[in-house]
Amino acid sequence: MRWRPRRGSLSAGPPPAAILLRGRRAARGAAGRHGEGPGAVEPLPAARRATLSGGRARCEAAVVQRLLLESRGAAAEGVERHHGGGGGGGEGGGRDFPGAAAAREELDKELPVLKPYFVQKPELAGKTGTGMRVTWLGHASVMVEMDELIFLTDPIFSQRASPTQLMGPKRFRGPPCTVEQLPKIDAVMISHTHYDHLDYNTVTSLNERFGSELRWFVPLGLLDWMQRCGCENVIELDWWEENCVPGHDAVTFVFTPSQHWCKRTATDDNKVLWGSWSVLGPWNRFFFSGDTGYCVAFEQIGKRFGPFDLAAIPIGAYEPRWFMKYQHVDPEEAVRIHIDVQAKKSVAIHWGTFALANEYYLDPPVKLNEALERYGLKKEDFFVLNHGESRELSTNDGFE
Ligand SMILES: [Zn+2]
Repeated sequence: MRWRPRRGSLSAGPPPAAILLRGRRAARGAAGRHGEGPGAVEPLPAARRATLSGGRARCEAAVVQRLLLESRGAAAEGVERHHGGGGGGGEGGGRDFPGAAAAREELDKELPVLKPYFVQKPELAGKTGTGMRVTWLGHASVMVEMDELIFLTDPIFSQRASPTQLMGPKRFRGPPCTVEQLPKIDAVMISHTHYDHLDYNTVTSLNERFGSELRWFVPLGLLDWMQRCGCENVIELDWWEENCVPGHDAVTFVFTPSQHWCKRTATDDNKVLWGSWSVLGPWNRFFFSGDTGYCVAFEQIGKRFGPFDLAAIPIGAYEPRWFMKYQHVDPEEAVRIHIDVQAKKSVAIHWGTFALANEYYLDPPVKLNEALERYGLKKEDFFVLNHGESRELSTNDGFE
């Protein structure tokens, strides 16, 4: 069955821009720009956007980086630590893990880590018919099964989100499974390069297991890094560009905007693009926001590709607001993204795994439910899963 647009056709944009990328299937125009908050998404040449080196974005990123490093004393360690890091402990709590759960028993009670269904029943993976299934693998890592494909978002199976496994933010809830226990994965989408979203050990493990059978969808500027990891089947895309998994033309992966930034080393500020992903299949549509501040891009994405059957939206790492708000939404803004992209359901991500910000570790779902109530939405409209837990969504309605 061929994919047919429900609304907001992929071809509705301006004519294709100049071909700048390797391996892409088609370019669509109307690229947006990382702006200075809500209301600022406007065209900017791709080459310039990918190498923002002297502009405001870099200044903001540098200020935030310095503030974060200073606030946690990470600078003394001489390594880049994403979002300042915390989590000096590991499973069982840590010395600077906000509102630390001192005991492993409390964590097991509040944030249980379940074995995903596919560890016991691998034969069920991918068998979702016209419906879809989502499994939360911790932080921003989700496994989505829809339209005869299985894909992962920002997979991280390592203990630390850091250039080294010797130091840096350590997860206080372990991954619910190993790379070896995963079913066959068709595609991985990467939203940006921060260590809690792009993990070298996870990338190389996935590549070792699946090799060139696995298609990597990555932001503009990341192709070389992926190839240095040994990955061969990599597609890098600019905002609004699309591609697909070979042999599965009916499902379109579109790299869409978000408001964030990129950094892994002292000199690579924003040399790689950041963004969200819209996956458009014949039966289902999935949206992954990546890390983001709240901005007008989500309304544009909703108008163009909505409604989505499921969106994965971050609800954690948002305090203090005065500097987090430009890069990480809070639960209320997460609900606004859910509304803006026209998601029928959303799953909460980016919480309960790494201590990256100042809020109490159990606050995000509480605040999410308060926000849902304020917007007249139900808990099941924007649900929270346990680590390793799956949710099945039945066939969407209203699709011809
Ligand atoms: Zn980030």
